[in-house]
Amino acid sequence: MLSDTPSFPLRLFAACLLLLAATAPVHAAPTQAPPTLRLYAIDCGHLAFKDMGLFSDTGEYDGKPGEMAVPCFLIRHPKGDLIWDTGLGDGLASQPDTIYKPLGITATVRTTLVAQLAELGLAPQDIDYLALSHLHADHAGNANLFTRAIWLLSRRELAWATTEPSPPGVAPALFSGYRQARVTWLDLDHDVFGDGSVRILRAPGHTAGHAVLMLQLAHAGTVILSGDLFHTRENRRDRRVPPVNDSRAETLASFDRIETLLANRHARLVIQHAPEDFAALPAFPAYLD
Ligand SMILES: [Zn+2]
Repeated sequence: MLSDTPSFPLRLFAACLLLLAATAPVHAAPTQAPPTLRLYAIDCGHLAFKDMGLFSDTGEYDGKPGEMAVPCFLIRHPKGDLIWDTGLGDGLASQPDTIYKPLGITATVRTTLVAQLAELGLAPQDIDYLALSHLHADHAGNANLFTRAIWLLSRRELAWATTEPSPPGVAPALFSGYRQARVTWLDLDHDVFGDGSVRILRAPGHTAGHAVLMLQLAHAGTVILSGDLFHTRENRRDRRVPPVNDSRAETLASFDRIETLLANRHARLVIQHAPEDFAALPAFPAYLD
């Protein structure tokens, strides 16, 4: 039989809820710094190629079609938030497909980076640090959203990317925001939060100042985000180098460095453009930690 008066445990529970509601700051849960490092993989577009010959200078892919993922990554550390690579650009989301005709490339953005950050209660101005593996257009598309962040920028990469005429695949207007932002200039490897858990590692060759990101996660262990050191799993296996590449010798030396690090640390490599590597990561807003 039901009583009109709530039982003591029920009243205590209701009182606790009221107290929580009164003291909880608005949006506290989503924007609070996480207790430990987290890696979120975000869908920042898709590329379809009529001819994957763009990805090996020794002819294995000539005339063959292929597809690539274009991810962005949010790294949440107790001391701040870092965006690693910014995808094709949210502006493409309002266009059905963008076709770069001479190259036979179709670029698609289904959902914007801004909308996905909002799922976590974040806006671009909340992000503390921006780092780009390199300045090709499919990695720098949304960079100018982050002018409130500190840009961790390779001096050598920027010098290379702002030469005239622009190197292939570079659109300087996409990353002009560095002029308004605070910049930390990088010449060597860089420990983002000073505790060794998030490190930008030089891996030049694809472009002059290309870098990868190495994370030390509590449960997932060491994870390396490739940038464009490799574009496909096959390219990694067979040490293939794209024809559009700043230095073949530096690319091969960077393969050696990162492969040795992966082996020494029993690390997981995420080849950013490999659709199977993107699919193997937790689906946003789930994360690796
Ligand atoms: Zn690239």
